[in-house]
Amino acid sequence: MSNVERDPQETVCGGEAGEGPARELLTGREVVLGGTRGMKVTRTLPNRDRRMVGAWCFVDHYGPEPASMGVPPHPHTGLQTVSWLLEGEVLHRDSLGSEQLITPGQLNLMTAGRAISHAEESPREAVLHGVQLWVALPDASRDIAPAFEHHPVLPAITAPGVTVTVIAGELGGVTSPARVYTPLVGAEMTFDDQARIGVPLRPDFEYAVITLSGGVEADGVDLDPGPLLYLGSGRSDLTLRARRPSRVLLLGGEPFEEELVMWWNFVGRSHEEIQRFRKEWSEGDEFGTVDGFDGEPLPAPALPTTQMKPRGRHR
Ligand code: MN
Repeated sequence: MSNVERDPQETVCGGEAGEGPARELLTGREVVLGGTRGMKVTRTLPNRDRRMVGAWCFVDHYGPEPASMGVPPHPHTGLQTVSWLLEGEVLHRDSLGSEQLITPGQLNLMTAGRAISHAEESPREAVLHGVQLWVALPDASRDIAPAFEHHPVLPAITAPGVTVTVIAGELGGVTSPARVYTPLVGAEMTFDDQARIGVPLRPDFEYAVITLSGGVEADGVDLDPGPLLYLGSGRSDLTLRARRPSRVLLLGGEPFEEELVMWWNFVGRSHEEIQRFRKEWSEGDEFGTVDGFDGEPLPAPALPTTQMKPRGRHR
């Protein structure tokens, strides 16, 4: 998916080591994406006060509502996109020639590396419910060749009334086959009504949870769909209890120490680099072409008039 705001503000990431347990409720903001019905998303990362959780630097939650996604070809650099659905179907096409439909419970993982472009659309108007997440690549890996992976089946941990699907990274000794470049975890938890679980955490990771449907109590906090609950680091477990049948996303990772410049669909390290990416998308061929999409690629918005500065992972 793309950041298709007409006037994207500079958003910034990066920082210092974990500061211990926290309970910060980060309110998302409503953003309207492209498509014939202008799909509405709630963006909880980057947030004004908290820009990253581990290497996770972008969290969009959309639906459930009838919608048609139609995001024209657009570029990415320095990140991985994680597409995860709860309802509906999305067709991915990219400049590597990949063409892949995803359905609920499957993972599309696109590694932009130095440059990729892609388009995403729903084959028909239907109820769509899902998340679009970005993972920042560390400096040592951000110039790698672009890649695309589709994982139709992912490993899971089960407890009475709870299924935990490990989408990316590792949780409780269970590892996703998805290729990632920093220590992290992304997992979806499905709860029966009143089910509870103690999830093993790593004290060196920071974590956050977001309710995608239903409602849970997470670390004693009532969490309904909407905000992201930032939990900080220094924890060895997390207790969740469902107040009704629920789906919850757990995100975590080693605090990302590098400072980033995030602008539009690019993750970079300096204003000049972002300027170069924008020029290359507008005039060059480094980002390739996406075949099969009926429509023009997305033009890059104008750069901000002020110099963008690399920033840390929180305010
Ligand atoms: Mn995208």
